Amino acid sequence: MTHPPDNRPRGKRPLPPKEAADWIVRHLRDQGFEALLAGGCVRDMLMGRPPKDYDVATGAKPLELLNIFRRTLKVGVQFGVIMVGDAGPWIEVATFRSDVHYSDGRHPDRVVFSTAQQDALRRDFTVNGMFYDPVTGEVIDYVAGQADLTRRVIRAIGRPSERFAEDHLRLLRAVRFAAVLDFAIEPHTWQAVVEYAPLLAKVSRERVLEELGRMLTSPGRTIGMRMLAESDLLPHAIPAVGQGTPWPLATIDLACRRLAALPADADLACSLAATLADLPPGRVDELAREMTCSNDLRKQLVWLIESLPRVRRQGDLSLADLKRLMASGWFDNLARLLHADLAARHQPLRPWQFLCERSEAIPPEKVQPAPLVAGDDLKALSITPGPIYKQVLDAVYTAQLNEQITDRDQALHMLRRLLADAGYSL
Ligand code: ATP
Ligand code: MG
Repeated sequence: MTHPPDNRPRGKRPLPPKEAADWIVRHLRDQGFEALLAGGCVRDMLMGRPPKDYDVATGAKPLELLNIFRRTLKVGVQFGVIMVGDAGPWIEVATFRSDVHYSDGRHPDRVVFSTAQQDALRRDFTVNGMFYDPVTGEVIDYVAGQADLTRRVIRAIGRPSERFAEDHLRLLRAVRFAAVLDFAIEPHTWQAVVEYAPLLAKVSRERVLEELGRMLTSPGRTIGMRMLAESDLLPHAIPAVGQGTPWPLATIDLACRRLAALPADADLACSLAATLADLPPGRVDELAREMTCSNDLRKQLVWLIESLPRVRRQGDLSLADLKRLMASGWFDNLARLLHADLAARHQPLRPWQFLCERSEAIPPEKVQPAPLVAGDDLKALSITPGPIYKQVLDAVYTAQLNEQITDRDQALHMLRRLLADAGYSL
């Protein structure tokens, strides 16, 4: 097999994504193929938002793309999707296609390569169905997406019920885009979302979490949460009570008020904790597993929700307790969650202020100091290793964190006293 000619842009640093996508479009045109920017990037450019990525759609078939470009990844050749890296960053290049028959409620059984217009019609929402020609600066709009962008509405392309019956993930995507873009959902589309909401239960938990994550990390998270509740998607997206069992209204309301009180840039752990803070920590652990959260995310969620009542009752928190919370790496999120929780309950913010003041007064080197005594000191006292090690070392370290002891002599003295109390003769 001969290698395609090396046509990559030369003598320059890798192009930024937008220029790389433009270069791919021009290069395909030079080879006689139709090529356009497509989907989300067109929507975002028209809205003046920075696109997350730039996708190219083209009349060139996958094999032709593999011949034209040198640096390619076959990510989804059967769907006509190839990644092209010739201009630097990887850009998704997809052949214009129509999707044929969905039997699993999520993916087309097969695709047929088609025209730009057919490709627009297979997309989910009108605002996501536009093309842009970077050579002429023209928007190519077969689905009246520009009008909906101006009206700020999410409208399914074609018959909403058919589109949601084909691919049930679109139910959640409708809410995600409405929340992230601060758009309304057009009434017929909304009616179909409500009607088909239970079908979300059939979609893989990973994809549900991905869309949910995009929604919860955007400043529109509260509107999104309310739409999830109103459409009945919520118990399928987050089965907190049980798969498909509606959440109690008071819980939804408190969750929404907590979300509304979070800083705009709150991350997924913080916003998901704000959503789930009324559940017992054990249930949060189970739910996070069901939702396929990563171990890191699950552990942080459980820790945040477990720690919240402790920081709410500020008086009970010793200096050592506070330092241990600060050493977790998740303390900033705990402070944000506490603030949001108090604000949501219309309670005084004093516990949050107190937590911030106390933590700010602790110098970083005092948060997690090296222990003054260790296992070797117990060995030197001829203590047989066992549970007593952890018991006494933890107690001495707590005293160290509480600044009740400040040097090694004091620590050794305390160690001996604790051992004597436990019945060891030294
Ligand atoms: P974002 O900026 O969040 O990435 P996006 O619109 O680019 O938004 P993607 O999930 O990256 O969303 O999908 C890219 C494009 O592919 C969409 O704009 C849409 O045209 C089409 N698309 C994606 N998922 C679906 C789907 N489930 N059904 C139909 N079309 C879809
Ligand atoms: Mg995208």
